[in-house]
Formats: sequence, structure tokens, C-alpha cells
Amino acid sequence: MKHNFGAGPGILPHEVLKQAAAAVVDFNGTGLSLLEISHRSPEFEAVLAEALKLVKELFSVPDGYSILFLQGGASTQFALAPYNLLPEGGKAAYLETGVWASKAIKEAKFFGDVQIVASSKESNFTFIPKDFEIPADAAYLHFTSNNTIYGTQVQKFFPSPVPLVCDMSSDIFSRKVNVADFGLIYAGAQKNMGPAGVTLVIVKDELLGKTNRKIPSMFNYQTQIDGGSMYNTPPVFAIYVSMLTLNWLKAKGGVEAIEKENATKARVLYEEIDRNPFFKGVAATEDRSHMNVCFVAENPDHQKPFLQLCDEKGIVGIKGHRSVGGFRASIYNALSINSVYVLIDAMREFAEKNK
Ligand code: PMP
Repeated sequence: MKHNFGAGPGILPHEVLKQAAAAVVDFNGTGLSLLEISHRSPEFEAVLAEALKLVKELFSVPDGYSILFLQGGASTQFALAPYNLLPEGGKAAYLETGVWASKAIKEAKFFGDVQIVASSKESNFTFIPKDFEIPADAAYLHFTSNNTIYGTQVQKFFPSPVPLVCDMSSDIFSRKVNVADFGLIYAGAQKNMGPAGVTLVIVKDELLGKTNRKIPSMFNYQTQIDGGSMYNTPPVFAIYVSMLTLNWLKAKGGVEAIEKENATKARVLYEEIDRNPFFKGVAATEDRSHMNVCFVAENPDHQKPFLQLCDEKGIVGIKGHRSVGGFRASIYNALSINSVYVLIDAMREFAEKNK
């Protein structure tokens, strides 16, 4: 058995994978594969409707918001957010907490004036800046809720005079969020929601149509809303597997229940990192992510042999991102606490062997 700590595409529940595999051969007894039926068939329309309903229910999306399943990943949303929300000649505020935030900033500059309200770039993004002012004349404030590469997470959302736009790619559905506090939430699916290929967008309807821009149909949230996420052929398989994963989450007790499990997984792992003299954490303690736990070996010579030990134990995907080094244990929703204990045991065994 493998313990999949990969950062993304990340671990999915085993039963979801089994159901998805079966649907590829024979979808719900239709004698046809899910991959070869019309997206406008009643069978697929039911899948899409169920997936949308689950998002609304699990994330308590209030009325006045539209839920969309789009393509192009979170990286496309880096451009579509300003395209749809930043008026011609307007200004947007951005918080820079990592490479993904920097990429969002780069795209926003195509559409208007970008003000970086704070950045932790100088310290290689080891913390989330907190004392910054949000310009009241900005169209929105954009930030990344969880910085997948650096293992930092915004633990308390900011009170803001302008709508919040948030990239939740790596912590969506991992904790309770008050959607009403946000103007726009987007997330590539491939960590907690499903496979790569579909991107979730939750947008407050009243913010749309105010930019004075001409927006091509596929890039226009309003066209996608009007088309019910089916303006063109949607990524049927990714939506189906997302629906299964959200159903799995619901059966587990929903976001509130998984938030508690995630907090326990994170706590026991950070406790070991802090206790074990062979390892140390990377992120500022108060900003530590409950999704991506980044740590390094105190002795750089221990990097390789620890990875080797992990490999022997079936622990995979634990090598840190090249810009941080060390190790990154991604402990997404579908990763069981047992896998976390396997990693902790490996850390203890390593310390014992090398003392
Ligand atoms: N934002 C965050 C926080 C991410 O972790 C990632 C991918 N790991 C992205 C954006 C980019 O997503 P995509 O590859 O779906 O464009």
C-alpha cells in the first residue's frame, strides 16, 4: 500500500477511484461508458446537477452566488478574475504570498493597475503578511488561501472594504469558509475536489457586468452562468469524479468533520517535527498550513537517506518543491491519519538509526 503525500494532483478516496473506474466501462448500467455519452444526455445532466448541489450544500453557498465548473485550471482564473471584475482603468489589490500569487499578479497586470498590498517574497514566502492596508478604491483584494509550495495558510480571513477574491486551489473543502465574505472563489480541482481538468468558480452575481470590457464568450463568467457550465462541452469525467468525491465528503460528515480530522493530522505531524531533533519546520508557526506540511532535515546530508527510507515504507510524493527543498507532506482530505502515523514512525525510526 502506498501513502500518497503528493502535492497535486493529490490523493483521492479509494472508493471514488473504484466507482470512477467502473463508470468508464459501464455508466450506471447504461451499457455505455461515461466517456461516450452526450453531455446533454439526462444521465450526465443529472451528474452535473448533483455536483453543483453538493458544492452548494457542502460549502453553504448562499443565494446570489453562481457555481461554475470551468476548464483551464486555476492559472486561467488568474486572468479571468481581473477580466471579469476589474473595470477598465481600474485598480486591483493583491497580496503576494507565493509563486501562485505572483502568477496571478502577472496576469492581472494585463487588465489594469495592480497594487501589491504586502509581500513575503523577501523571506521566501515563509509567512503570511498581516498588517497591510487595503485600498478602498480597489475593485477587489486577491489572495491565495493556502500556499501549496511553502506550507503557509491564511488562518484568519481579512476584513476588507472591497470584495475578496481568493485562490483556494489547495484548501477548498478542507475547512469551513463563510462564502458570503467573498466576491469570488476559485480552485483547480486536483487536490481536495477531484481530478485535474475541472476548475471550480463561485462568484457573487452582483459583481459581474461592471467592467465596461468586451469579454470573449468562453472567458465571460456571465456566458458560463447562462450556459449552466455547459456553454461548450464540459470535462465530463472530471466533473463526475468531483461529484463522487464530494459525495464521499458528505458521507464523512462534510466540511466541518473533515476540518477536525485535518487539524488532528496537522497537529500530530507538526508535533513530531518540533519534537524530533532531526527535522525542523519551514513556515512561521502561526501560519502553518493544515494541507501542506513543509519541513527540512537539520543536517542536509540526511535529505537523501530519509527520502530513501520513505520510499521503503511506501511513502510517496514527499520531496519538497525545488524552491523550498526538504520535504512536503501534503495531507489532503483523502489522506488517512494512519498514513500520517506511518510518516511519523519513519521520522522516529530515522532519528533512532542516526543518533
Ligand atoms: N494556485 C495554487 C494555490 C496551486 O496550488 C496551483 C497548482 N498547484 C495553482 C494555483 C495552479 O493550478 P493549475 O495547475 O490548475 O492552473
